[in-house]
Amino acid sequence: MCVFCKIVANEIPSMKLYEDDFVLSFLDISQVTEGHALVVPKKHCENLYDLDDESASKLLSASQKVALALRKTFGLDGLHLINNNGRLAGQSVFHFHIHLIPRYESDAFVVSFPRNKPDFEKLSATRLKILDNFD
Ligand code: AMP
Ligand code: ZN
Repeated sequence: MCVFCKIVANEIPSMKLYEDDFVLSFLDISQVTEGHALVVPKKHCENLYDLDDESASKLLSASQKVALALRKTFGLDGLHLINNNGRLAGQSVFHFHIHLIPRYESDAFVVSFPRNKPDFEKLSATRLKILDNFD
């Protein structure tokens, strides 16, 4: 059983924030910033690719509930919703989870995406490649 399945089954302790029939939210054991929470489906799935529709919709509404509570509690200056899929993307627990990471003016957490100049020919070619692969 994976570590989050054990948390769902109450076999290992967690700092629970929210629970319903489909999802559980608890504090991340390693707080990037104060209030850093995870939201996980109760039904095990590894990542976004094998997430079922019902868990997916419940995960987003639970994330909103937790985000609102975090905002009310800490008066956030910002909030990240992050989901890592696959080792290269930083996934270390292979049970789907959404990170809610509060941002504060005073924090030292840096997330930076390179912003490249738009290349419309390339965009169009990229789009066509992807459109070929919808099931
Ligand atoms: P990721 O690297 O995106 O797969 O995120 C996994 C997260 O799970 C990390 O931020 C860990 O700190 C967190 N984590 C691992 N074990 C536990 C645990 N027992 N309770 C709470 N959070 C955990
Ligand atoms: Zn699991």
